[in-house]
Amino acid sequence: MKALVKKEARPGLSLEDVPEPEPGINDVLIKVKRTAICGTDLHIYNWDSWAQKTIKVPMVIGHEFVGEIVDIGANVNDFNPGQIVSGEGHVVCGRCRNCMAGRRHLCSSASGIGVDRQGAFAEYLSLPMSNVWEHRPGINLDIAALFDPLGNAVHTALQFDLLGEDVLITGAGPIGVMAAAVCRHAGARYIVITDLNPDRLQLGLTMGATRAVDVRSESIEAVQAELGMTEGFDIGLEMSGNSIALNDLIANMCHGGKLCLLGIQAESAAVDWNAVIFNMLTIKGIYGREMYETWYKMSVMIDTSLDISPVISHRLAYGEFDEGFKAMRAGTAAKVILNWE
Ligand code: NAD
Ligand code: ZN
Repeated sequence: MKALVKKEARPGLSLEDVPEPEPGINDVLIKVKRTAICGTDLHIYNWDSWAQKTIKVPMVIGHEFVGEIVDIGANVNDFNPGQIVSGEGHVVCGRCRNCMAGRRHLCSSASGIGVDRQGAFAEYLSLPMSNVWEHRPGINLDIAALFDPLGNAVHTALQFDLLGEDVLITGAGPIGVMAAAVCRHAGARYIVITDLNPDRLQLGLTMGATRAVDVRSESIEAVQAELGMTEGFDIGLEMSGNSIALNDLIANMCHGGKLCLLGIQAESAAVDWNAVIFNMLTIKGIYGREMYETWYKMSVMIDTSLDISPVISHRLAYGEFDEGFKAMRAGTAAKVILNWE
C-alpha cells in the first residue's frame, strides 16, 4: 500500500510502498478515505528537536483520519465492514490506575498513532477496536477527518460552563478558531480571539468570534472597554503556545476566572504567578480528548449545526502532500485535507 513515511532521521517525508497492516484479533482494518495534517505532523516533517527525541524511523505518520472498516479481528463483535469511522489516536494501556477506573484519557502510558506506532497517512490502518469511533450516517468525510483536532477544541472549550460567559481565546490557529465556533454553539456571550495573522483573525470572525484582536496593534483591555466589559473575561482558552499570549490571558481575566491551557509552551515560559494568586484564577492543563465523552459531544454538535467547514483551507490528493506541508509551513493554511481514495 501507499503511505507517507518518515523514512530517515532528517527533514522531509516520502511516499512509499509499505506492507499492508495485518489486524490482530482485537483490531479493525480501516481503508483510509481522508486525512488531515496536524501541527504534530509538521514537527515530524521538519525534524525538530521534539521529533528527533520522539520518532523512531521508519514511521508511517498521521493521526487525523476517517475511513471505512474493511475487515475485523476474530474478537470484534461491535464493528462491521462498511462502517465509517475515525479513531482516538491515543492507544491506552488498559491496566494503569486511571484506565482501570474508566478514565482512559488519563492513561499513564498511552502510545500515539503516527508517533509511537504506525499511523494513518496510508491506504490502510489497523486500530484496536477500543479506539474506534463510528460516525453518524451522512457525515461529511472532510469534517469527519477533523474529529481529532476538533476534539482538542471541544475538550478545552467545554471544561467550564460557557452559557452567557465572556471568553478570551489566544491564538487563532485551526484549534483556536474551532474553539470559537464551539463557544458560540455553546452559548457564550462575547468571544474575543487574538493572533498576529490577519487571515487567521478573519477566520476566527467567520467561525463565530465577536471580535478579533491583532495584538500587534490593539490591546485586549481596550477591546474589553469597547464591548462594555468591566470585570474581565470569565473563561480563557490558551491556544497559541506563546508565553506572551498566556500572560495576556492571565492579565485579562476576571477574579475567579478559569483558564484552560492547550497550547504547548516553551520550557522557559514565565508566568505572572501573583496575578494568578491575587485574582484567584483556576488553571487547567488540557491534553488530547476525553474517551469518549468528547467524541459524543462532537458528533451531536455536528448533527445540530456546528459548522467547522471554513477551517478547511486545502483539499489535496495524497500525492500532493508536499504542497500541503509547504502551505502549513508558510502559515497560509488552516486545515489541509488529503484524499486517499
Ligand atoms: P497553530 O500553531 O497553528 O496556531 C497558533 C496560533 O497562535 C498561530 O496562528 C499564531 O500566529 C498565534 N500566536 C502566536 N503568538 C501569539 C500571541 N502572542 N498572541 C496571540 N496569538 C499568537 O496551532 P494549532 O494547531 O491551532 O494548535 C494550537 C496549540 O495547541 C499549539 O501550541 C499546539 O501545539 C497545541 N496543541 C496541544 C494539544 C494538546 O493535547 N495539549 C493538542 C493539539 C495542539
Ligand atoms: Zn493506562
